[in-house]
Amino acid sequence: GYKKKWAKNEGSKPHTVHALNHMEAFYKPVFKERWPSIRISLLTTSKYCALLNNYNSENEKVEKYLTDLGTYNAMEKAKLARAKYLEKENQQIVTEQSSLPIESLIDFPKRPSHSEVDENDDVNDDDEDVKEDIQPVVGKNTSLYDFIPTKRVYTDKELLQQHIARVATFDDSLLEVPVKVIQEQVPELPEDLKFFVYPKGDISKFPNPKMKHGNLLGYYMMDAASLLPVIALDLQENDSVLDLCAAPGGKTLAMLQTLKTENLTCIDESWSRLSRLKDISKWYIGETPSSMSVSKRDGKLLEDPFYNKVLVDVPCNTDRHVLISEDNNLFKPGRMEERLELPKEQMELLVAGIKSCKPGGTVVYSTCTLSPAQNDGVIHAAMDHLWKETDIDTVVIDISYLRPIFKDIFTFFPKTKYGQLVLPTLSSNFGPMYICKIKRIR
Ligand code: SAM
Repeated sequence: GYKKKWAKNEGSKPHTVHALNHMEAFYKPVFKERWPSIRISLLTTSKYCALLNNYNSENEKVEKYLTDLGTYNAMEKAKLARAKYLEKENQQIVTEQSSLPIESLIDFPKRPSHSEVDENDDVNDDDEDVKEDIQPVVGKNTSLYDFIPTKRVYTDKELLQQHIARVATFDDSLLEVPVKVIQEQVPELPEDLKFFVYPKGDISKFPNPKMKHGNLLGYYMMDAASLLPVIALDLQENDSVLDLCAAPGGKTLAMLQTLKTENLTCIDESWSRLSRLKDISKWYIGETPSSMSVSKRDGKLLEDPFYNKVLVDVPCNTDRHVLISEDNNLFKPGRMEERLELPKEQMELLVAGIKSCKPGGTVVYSTCTLSPAQNDGVIHAAMDHLWKETDIDTVVIDISYLRPIFKDIFTFFPKTKYGQLVLPTLSSNFGPMYICKIKRIR
């Protein structure tokens, strides 16, 4: 009968449909009334920006060419918005810069004895304080992964809803160490980074860049939201930078465009994707700059604190891709294992990134998914892991200042816990992009 046939088709439905059903189940309860708009935006062609290539000797001509197309330099607008925002802020709070080192301002509860701790009375007293202070609502051994989508099949709709609610809220009380979020002065925007966009609602496309101005390509087309992780990194001259998941190199190129990468290490696990990074560097820079090294490695194995700025742009659900392409789709049954392992993989990469960061340095974690488990959930899990298993102390840096600064081109989700999330909309179809900034204290 009809039912039987339907059931048969159900098993062999396109992977893109499986992906959409998954999002209906997991994203709709999180984004609520915003979901229909996000959903249709994800299913529509995304918007690009043109990142200006500063290594091209004729880039003034390129700039004119881009503005003649009807686009504008979004960084100029962002700089004005930043100035306006600071003006407003200053009227409200007049803070004195503290000269105390940051670690003295933040008091971390004592760790469980992962390293040898003297079993004396003082320590026990402290332990008591911690317990009283935090009052975990679940047992001590509850793993955070209990709160991340699992292989479990929920037949009961109510149980599924409860599970999703837990995934979405990341209740701090589930952690033995609460994650600290601190404010920092709003950094300058990178002086030399320039990117051009068509105005909101204008869905015109950039022509493909050609070598008609100079010997290098004049601009690189990318999702403008992918520039936010680079902007959040706040690169300074003398920084020693690690790009832990670098290929195919869009964000690497954006970092190079800040002209502040005297020492840049790019790592990726995939040869084929690294070769695309090398192509990009050939077309846009000419040759791989001597200040930049590219190598194929498993980023999870890094653990020496050599760098003071680290970008961890992890592999993720790639929400857009899984909705439009059957090819290599993460939602095909053969890749289920890999998909369910993603949050763990992401956490391990983030932990490796933090271990590679010198105390005092910062790490930016980013994804192009809306999945709370792969965004705030990974931050949550990584900080919990570091606190339990290592001597490393970290804090989240509040980067919500990105919202007023980029409000003209991006729509942000106001309900994230640690990072910022760009939501795709029809009139400004960038993202999704999640960005979280972490400072290593010790
Ligand atoms: N940052 C890149 C850009 O802006 O063009 C995109 C990075 S992509 C989202 C994630 C990358 O992580 C992939 O190129 C993948 O090969 C790489 N990757 C996955 N597992 C890795 C690992 N264990 N170590 C290093 N790279 C890894």
